[in-house]
Amino acid sequence: MSGTGSRDGTSQRRWQRGDQMLWTYTNPTHPGLYDQRPVTVIADDEKHLAVWLESGTRMLHQVLADGSGIRTADGPARFGAPRAQGLKRWQGPGIVAVFQPGADYSVWYFATPSGRRDSFYINLEEPFTRFDRGILTSDHVLDIVVDAQGRYQLKDEDELEFARAAGMFSDEKAARIRSAADSAIEDIRAWTFPFDSDYPDFRPDPAWPMPELPAAATWDFES
Ligand code: MG
Repeated sequence: MSGTGSRDGTSQRRWQRGDQMLWTYTNPTHPGLYDQRPVTVIADDEKHLAVWLESGTRMLHQVLADGSGIRTADGPARFGAPRAQGLKRWQGPGIVAVFQPGADYSVWYFATPSGRRDSFYINLEEPFTRFDRGILTSDHVLDIVVDAQGRYQLKDEDELEFARAAGMFSDEKAARIRSAADSAIEDIRAWTFPFDSDYPDFRPDPAWPMPELPAAATWDFES
């Protein structure tokens, strides 16, 4: 696993605020390719792991075999067509991401015109595991967006169907993902942690250096 390191005896340690680590998505349909984001740890305790992704961070992402963006493929090919490893910079503003042990979604905080990070992106994914240099999970395609007024909306239901048709998920797994989305919506309505946290007002420490990909990371296309 070049670029992610290996699991070993240190894999269960907690990180300290200011540590740098690798927020990593594997993709069982495209083994050996990663979405990997070097990030800075904000907090790591029994309840949650919070990380900061700085705008402009160089990160690994997946592209089609010819280097074009995955979203240029339509239908099931968006998930089933051969892929390659890409490198890009995180173009958007910095985000806070919160992971909870055993949870099948992470919560990303995006800034809104108010200046607060009070728009939420709920990314459905496998509960995270730790490895020596970061965390591993895999994406479940379906997402939920919540605006600053607390209004929520499912996103990419059509893509979940494409992914199922491409063989990325079984019928049963796709049904479990939809039901995980229903549970996440219940959490939003109940405004449980981390929605009720003060992360919308988080400010990164200006002294934190920009985290880098591992020196051993490789890619086929850079954009
Ligand atoms: Mg997603």
